[in-house]
Amino acid sequence: MENTELQTQLLPVDSRTPDPAIIAQAGQILKDGGLVAFPTETVYGLGGDALNPDSSRKIYAAKGRPSDNPLIVHIAEMEALKPICAQIPETMRRLAEAFWPGPLTMIVPKSDLVPKETTGGLDTVAIRMPDHETALALIRAAGGYIAAPSANASGRPSPTLASHVMEDLQGRIEMILDGGEVGIGVESTIVDLTGEVPTILRPGYVTEEMLRRVLGEVQTDPTLMQKVEGGRPKAPGMRYRHYAPKGTLSLVEGDAAVVTERINALIAEAASEGKKTGVLCTEETLAEYHADVVRSLGSRADMRSIALHLYRALREFDTEGVEMIYAESFSRDGFGQAVMNRLLKAAGYTIIQA
Ligand code: AMP
Ligand code: MG
Repeated sequence: MENTELQTQLLPVDSRTPDPAIIAQAGQILKDGGLVAFPTETVYGLGGDALNPDSSRKIYAAKGRPSDNPLIVHIAEMEALKPICAQIPETMRRLAEAFWPGPLTMIVPKSDLVPKETTGGLDTVAIRMPDHETALALIRAAGGYIAAPSANASGRPSPTLASHVMEDLQGRIEMILDGGEVGIGVESTIVDLTGEVPTILRPGYVTEEMLRRVLGEVQTDPTLMQKVEGGRPKAPGMRYRHYAPKGTLSLVEGDAAVVTERINALIAEAASEGKKTGVLCTEETLAEYHADVVRSLGSRADMRSIALHLYRALREFDTEGVEMIYAESFSRDGFGQAVMNRLLKAAGYTIIQA
């Protein structure tokens, strides 16, 4: 990364039909080894040429991300798979057929074409085909392979709006394509296809149940929903503190009425200590809380809304300087597993039983 600040261009695009001239300009930046943040259906990505080791190095530097935490390679066509994979397992073909383009990342053995800088030194590569016209157009314009982690500074919540990317990366990257709010709001499901049994390393919109319908046998890494004590998690990214607001976040679990009562008691206690307080809740309970900042993620009945608004709310607590945050918990079924995984990580796995 250059020492001089870059002039980050923020360009609005129509996410479904992006202006070809803007895509060409952004594609050229990537081909020249620069960085462009772009919208996908999950969260905003920070893109660099996946086959250029210098681009990957720049991605790590811009994010402040440890360089052993591998990047996901984004492709736009099935034909792009063969050159970057040492082998394409049958499971990959079946999952691609069922879920691509879409929020599913698959890990397979890499070919020599993919530099180790992109895979954090591993012999495997994580690959995804996003379901987003701007992302697909940009991948094609860049030559077919974009390495892209989430476009946040390392450790902060992933960006669901271009303004979040500006907050974290302005002056560190060449361009941001602003396609408005993303569709899903949490990162892709990651499934490792290199072992005996396909293994979910990160839950997302594509659930274990959905994968099982295609593959039969699927397992979820047992360390996903609990703290790893000195163990070696399989997705290197799982080692690092993630998605976390600056304040202290605690999850409160139990029957709805008791949770509300308990959170209000915790807030009263924190407030009496002079702390600025926040609550992460749902439409159903919004009116019942007495904190400095109260944010609803949407209706409890609509897990998509909860997921979509989660990171934005965590960022708003930072903006407001909230010191103690209490969050309601959610069902871990289906897509709820992805939401609870992010909340648990953001809370450092602190759960208060109401
Ligand atoms: P992000 O792009 O910010 O969502 O982070 C990418 C995630 O994919 C990280 O948690 C990585 O650890 C994980 N990942 C990428 N490539 C691999 C790989 N080859 N093996 C295991 N995990 C991977
Ligand atoms: Mg990330």
